[in-house]
Amino acid sequence: MSTLINKLKQVEKKAWIPETTEGDGSNLASKFSGIPFLSKNESYPICQNCNKPMQLFVQLNLSELPQEFQTSVGINKGLLQMFYCLSDDPICEVECEAYFPFSKSTLLRIIEPTNDGRSDIDVSKFYPAMTIFSWNEIADYPNIEEMNEMGLSFTDEEESELYESLNPASGDKLGGYPSWVQGVEYPNCPKCDEKMQLIFQIDSEINLPYMFGDSGCGHITQCKEHKEVLAFGWACY
Ligand SMILES: [Zn+2]
Ligand SMILES: [Zn+2]
Repeated sequence: MSTLINKLKQVEKKAWIPETTEGDGSNLASKFSGIPFLSKNESYPICQNCNKPMQLFVQLNLSELPQEFQTSVGINKGLLQMFYCLSDDPICEVECEAYFPFSKSTLLRIIEPTNDGRSDIDVSKFYPAMTIFSWNEIADYPNIEEMNEMGLSFTDEEESELYESLNPASGDKLGGYPSWVQGVEYPNCPKCDEKMQLIFQIDSEINLPYMFGDSGCGHITQCKEHKEVLAFGWACY
């Protein structure tokens, strides 16, 4: 028992669960859906496949995230935005294989606002906004497969104990370890081929009224070195 705890301690990471409230905050707020910050004179992001406006899934104000997270991933300024095309004619999610990273029907970027941004954006046809007002810190651990990849091994007894645990945390969260539905699927950075790190997990129908396939779970990842390289992928049962 104590050895299992010791093994887990070696890989423990903090993660943060967003606490949200219905309604939209400012265009600089961390949020699900709602009005994204768009620079003055910038047009609303459209899908590269169907040319229709994309749904904002999440915007994170990186300067307002927990300091320990900022330090661990090395980002502390700008806005991270993720847009996703929900068109069903054509079905961009399928045509563009949006479950895989770097799909052309998703847009991920970090921007640094230099003006007040546009005030004329109509998001009435999109999902209702959920604004993030605080972050609940938790301890998070990888799943068994990922711990095996990290060089940890377990007895059968330890494994059954781990299967009953709720790690890694499901639901929406910042940092920590991905709750993989299929295998361990960190993308590699196209620039340096290094494994990318988890920034944010978006689960089905928690804060965003969207289901990834059959109750799937999605992950925003970033290259540790190339901060502009961001990816989103999801998997389901
Ligand atoms: Zn599209
Ligand atoms: Zn890289």
